[in-house]
Amino acid sequence: MDIIDAHMHFSRIDSFARAASEISHVDYSAAGFTRTCEENRVVAAIGMGLTETSPGSFPDIGARSPMLLDLADPWPDRLFGCAGINPIDMRIRGKEAVDALRLALENPRIVGIKLYAGYYPVFVSDEVYDPVYALASEFGLPVVIHGGVTYSDRGLLKYSHPLSFDEAIVAHRNLSFVICHMGEPWVMDTAALIAKCPNVVTDLSGLLVTDAGTIARKSSEPEEMMRWRQPMIFEERYDRFLYGSDWPLAPMDAYLSFIRKMIPEPYHGDVFFRNALRVFPRLSGIWPIDAAFPA
Ligand SMILES: [Zn+2]
Repeated sequence: MDIIDAHMHFSRIDSFARAASEISHVDYSAAGFTRTCEENRVVAAIGMGLTETSPGSFPDIGARSPMLLDLADPWPDRLFGCAGINPIDMRIRGKEAVDALRLALENPRIVGIKLYAGYYPVFVSDEVYDPVYALASEFGLPVVIHGGVTYSDRGLLKYSHPLSFDEAIVAHRNLSFVICHMGEPWVMDTAALIAKCPNVVTDLSGLLVTDAGTIARKSSEPEEMMRWRQPMIFEERYDRFLYGSDWPLAPMDAYLSFIRKMIPEPYHGDVFFRNALRVFPRLSGIWPIDAAFPA
């Protein structure tokens, strides 16, 4: 089965490199990316644009917006990206940063825009994001928002709670929004937004940041799986969940097995492939949306 990984990373971030070597034990490099994609039949992977100006500074208020993918140049085949926004930099640089975002969005391999709610202490309904939403609308691209716990103790959770996204989502009903990580641990709050708002989907990345053995053990614990299954059982909207690995924070093969167990088999084609084509229209130019699910 071919897979689209709708949320992973390909940036030189010190804490990601350390997680790769010390926690998930993956080869976090262009070669490692290509090899693990081939082994797991990942035909497209969407990297969340992120940069830091010095090792360990993520979340970095000094990073220039938009933030892209800088682990290797040129990008490997099958890598796509979301342009990451630093709202602090946008406040300082204003039009210059908006123009830089427009330029980035003209690249067909940029398939969406990523907001780092919680990592940056700014609500996604703040007016600094108005030009970002305007460009998302103009280019027909989704807005992907970090939801839930941050992978940094400097994050502030009131900005990444899924319910804090409600206002922006309602104000921009013409846009598609992706809430990352099901807003973990506030997964039922994310489910409420999915139920209410037709323009919201969520990704399944980052639910476990650990090694293959621990992922396998947790996959066989019913209580653990029920935590993640609950928002899916609520209204059974399997058209609104996207597969994502958060690689390198988890090994792709173990994480795929974990999510395969979580999703009832009749919906695998949607969650692992088709939903991503609908949410990221630039990908559907490459794989027609109504094509049969690749065997
Ligand atoms: Zn991530």
